[in-house]
Amino acid sequence: MLSKKLNLKAYYKPKVFVLASPSAAGKTTLCYAAARKDKNIWYSVSATTRAKRPHEKNGREYYFVSDAKFDQWFKTGELLESTTIYDARYGTPKQPILKKIEQGKDIILDLDIAGVKSMKRFYPHTVGIYVIPPSLNELWARLKNRSRSSSDKIKERFSKASAEMTLVFNNIKSKRPFINYVIVNNDLNKAIADLMAIIRAERLRVSK
Ligand code: 5GP
Repeated sequence: MLSKKLNLKAYYKPKVFVLASPSAAGKTTLCYAAARKDKNIWYSVSATTRAKRPHEKNGREYYFVSDAKFDQWFKTGELLESTTIYDARYGTPKQPILKKIEQGKDIILDLDIAGVKSMKRFYPHTVGIYVIPPSLNELWARLKNRSRSSSDKIKERFSKASAEMTLVFNNIKSKRPFINYVIVNNDLNKAIADLMAIIRAERLRVSK
């Protein structure tokens, strides 16, 4: 009996890690870093109707699709969840997620807060992670830095981001939080190490 190897893999339920954040907090970089560092983590690429940015590649950052195609996928149930942000639609393709779960792979996604909630409803082994900048001043500076929009637009994004952070922190205090961890992204290497620590801990967890 003592020499018999325990097959712990048979008990493992793949985890779905969903990162959300106010804009410009660096969650996409964190998702890519986790998938690069750990071959058992698969990054789920969403579909979107927004225009492709110059550095982006179809199938890498997003599947860039028309409104009609998005509608078709939505109607035929090919999207696990979807949302609209600033007139663009975003959605998570369902089949690839189901396939990876079946293969025993962990998954990482970069979604908005509504996406975290939907994912939690869909799959119980979902871990909600909220990435925040070290301060509101820093958030303001990052938004200004990365945006070519008017100052009114930046102000609008800033107030949306601070309202979202208040909502998330109230939710954390509630009985059924959808966010399980918060990562403060002050130093990128430390934030990546924090994310890898969360992933490691969740893989070892045996109860909810
Ligand atoms: P961006 O256009 O800057 O790439 O993304 C805008 C927002 O959409 C980000 O907060 C991103 O996490 C979110 N997002 C991207 N794909 C999805 C998706 O499939 N579902 C949901 N709910 N949000 C998404």
